[in-house]
Amino acid sequence: MQTKFQLDEDHIPKRWYNIQADLPSPMDPYFSPQTMKPVTPEELSQIFPMALIGQEVSQDRYIDIPDEVREIYRTYRPSPLIRAHRLEAHLKTPAKIYYKYEGVSPPGSHKPNTAIPQAYYNMKEGIERISTETGAGQWGSALAFATALFGMKCTVYMVRSSFYEKPYRKSMMQAWGAECIPSPSERTQSGKAMLARDPDTPGSLGIAISEAVEDAATHKDTNYSLGSVLNHVCMHQSIIGIEAMEQMKMAGDEPDVIIGCVGGGSNMAGISFPFLGEKLRGKRQVEAIAVEPASCPTLTKGAYAYDYGDTVGIGPIAKMYTLGHDFVPPAIHAGGLRYHGDSPLISRLVHDKVMKAVAVHQTEVFQAAVTFARTEGLIIAPETAHAVKTVIDEALKCRKNGEEKVILFNLSGHGNLDLGAYDEYFEGKLSDFEYPDSKIKESLTHLPKIG
Ligand SMILES: *Cc1c(COP(=O)(O)O)cnc(C)c1O
Repeated sequence: MQTKFQLDEDHIPKRWYNIQADLPSPMDPYFSPQTMKPVTPEELSQIFPMALIGQEVSQDRYIDIPDEVREIYRTYRPSPLIRAHRLEAHLKTPAKIYYKYEGVSPPGSHKPNTAIPQAYYNMKEGIERISTETGAGQWGSALAFATALFGMKCTVYMVRSSFYEKPYRKSMMQAWGAECIPSPSERTQSGKAMLARDPDTPGSLGIAISEAVEDAATHKDTNYSLGSVLNHVCMHQSIIGIEAMEQMKMAGDEPDVIIGCVGGGSNMAGISFPFLGEKLRGKRQVEAIAVEPASCPTLTKGAYAYDYGDTVGIGPIAKMYTLGHDFVPPAIHAGGLRYHGDSPLISRLVHDKVMKAVAVHQTEVFQAAVTFARTEGLIIAPETAHAVKTVIDEALKCRKNGEEKVILFNLSGHGNLDLGAYDEYFEGKLSDFEYPDSKIKESLTHLPKIG
């Protein structure tokens, strides 16, 4: 029984896939919080390079991957596709389970797939430093890695609760030469205002984004970089699904269900968009399930509306599922999934019913992670474990109904630096938390008025 489906380096895709080309109508534009009108490329160019602004709104189905970016992809791509034979046997399911393993990159997740091209395009346009935010630390470490390879500087605002809980991520950023600061900080007006209001705040991604955007907007040599959510990020991540499509052919199977966890939506976009593009073009039947935490239920309980991407409201306003920009999610361990909004593209596909969304609780998520470790061997990131919980649910449904479905999921990262969270689970310290509807309602009353 073959287990691993591996492509060689020369099969690294030469172009990314842009799902905007296959949508029945264009995406709703971003709005500027300053003018309350559709944002102009000139406004965005204060914090983003023109190449990425172009990709953000491109309607081209494919965009060439620069050679310099492919050269770095070669160090860890193509990532393997693995058949989870032992998990299947343990679940006694007739379903076939495959996973694309993105933990093989140096920072240990899918995030370098976009960090590398983002650093590259900024470097090409003469930018010397990139500022960004990070939740659990995976994005900060991915960007620190990528900027190091292009000889650039990097400043990372890390959500305060994670900064103290996950000190090793900060060590990685330092090893790659980046500066990592707990957010909110005294470095920015946004951070200072937040600290004045609540000195003990655990911080949030929304606040950290405000700080990083302000840093870039107030320094000429500095641009801002976002690790998820935006269209160009989803496009860079499509390399996962393009490779997976070729590897599924090697395995002689087609996925019936594609599953991924969703924080901002980039790894789910990456594994699913190339397949969903074919679905939108009427060439394929496939179900896609986005999995989010019940404590931050953006897609399942949020509103599909225009909202700020950051807490303070200085970044662009986007149409997306949102819990409200001033929502501060509880400090659950899957820090990478604690965002009030979601990718506009993922939101659009969920709203159009091309993709489904479900929410799961953290104790059942860790139980799934442990089952996965004891069958497949890999210790997975808590974020990824949300996907695995749903994979197990689907496989058990197949057992009950006697269905031989093919399930493909994205194993977005390993959990070797998340063992503290595993410990808390083993010690019975994790509890489930469902964000109260009343708090969501309250937060949604503060949405900006657009259209
Ligand atoms: C950041 C991260 C996520 C969540 O981000 P998306 O943009 O939704 O992919 C999921 N898994 C891992 C391992 C991460 O590092």
